Amino acid sequence: MRKVFNFSAGPSMLPEAVLKRAAGEMLDYNGSGQSVMEMSHRSAVYEEIIESCEALLRETMGIPDSYKVLFMQGGASSQFAMVPMNLMNGSGKADYMLTGQFSEKAYQEAQKFGDVRVAASSKDRNFSYIPQTCADTFDKDADYVHICYNNTIFGTRFLEAPDTGDIPLVADMSSYILSEPFDVSKFALIYAGAQKNMAPAGLTVVIVREDMIGKARQGTPVMFDYKVMADNGSMYNTPPTYPIYICKLVLEWIRDDIGGLAAMAERNREKAGLLYSCLDSSKLFKSTVQKEFRSTMNVTFATGDAQLDKKFVAEAETAGLVNLKGHRSVGGMRASIYNAMPREGVERLVEFMEKFEEEN
Ligand SMILES: *Cc1c(COP(=O)(O)O)cnc(C)c1O
Repeated sequence: MRKVFNFSAGPSMLPEAVLKRAAGEMLDYNGSGQSVMEMSHRSAVYEEIIESCEALLRETMGIPDSYKVLFMQGGASSQFAMVPMNLMNGSGKADYMLTGQFSEKAYQEAQKFGDVRVAASSKDRNFSYIPQTCADTFDKDADYVHICYNNTIFGTRFLEAPDTGDIPLVADMSSYILSEPFDVSKFALIYAGAQKNMAPAGLTVVIVREDMIGKARQGTPVMFDYKVMADNGSMYNTPPTYPIYICKLVLEWIRDDIGGLAAMAERNREKAGLLYSCLDSSKLFKSTVQKEFRSTMNVTFATGDAQLDKKFVAEAETAGLVNLKGHRSVGGMRASIYNAMPREGVERLVEFMEKFEEEN
């Protein structure tokens, strides 16, 4: 039995059904006499795992055939460099929207490779909102526009893909992917570190439109070239075999236990709704972001008194609600309620907040 609800921003909870299934298959995967961890990535039995993982991801997200799915390592943070190395290949210019710490890091990394501009930013109010843009906001000449769709640290999200006209749109979706259905075809490239909504740490998923591949800049290391990865079916070298297997189990869980991405979205809206309505009716806790941009995955809040915040986090931990401390750049608290967080965990948190408010 699991004893705590883990509100960590990542690595985060995995569905209990998935962990149980992995435990059951740990010593002998499907009669192979081996653990998935031990298998050759080029064996027939493993090939079936990676192929069905990709097929399930395509089916779940409705990924068009004109996109490649790449299973990589290096985390979302490696993509901060790989994106410019592969895509900054025309004018050598790119536009970035700054909506939080990860988009800032992506922006800083991209500066090493070309002429990078901040097209819009919400830094003026500590990233508590998403700036308004239109096609004219962006440099028509830019090779791409980069955004971070859900801001894990600050607790905001885009409501829809910004209109960038003909400029390819690139999105870091680490803490958003698989939380709800969306139109993949609005994006030229999507990337996500798996440790929020997909799998354990070690896997990074890149979904990239084929016409974006094959134009990496001179000097790009083979391991950083999307074309090499695409041409070799993510097996130029050893892929993160075990996280890919868990990702397949997570996708089966979404299909079979949840009922698909639309049902997942409904479940996530309900969970976030419980927490935000608690915040809205509270005299003690305040949401730290502008209402219309509230994330359904990362809920940030504070009492306004750092000592009281500390007390809350400590007492919550004793009550089995762990990892609620906010990121140091925001302070206060953050409840990450990714796909695997059961509704019961959020209900327990809301009860705890109400009790804490009464006592303080
Ligand atoms: C967690 C996270 C990252 C960093 O991911 P790594 O896999 O640790 O490099 C980047 N962007 C977003 C939006 C994240 O949530």
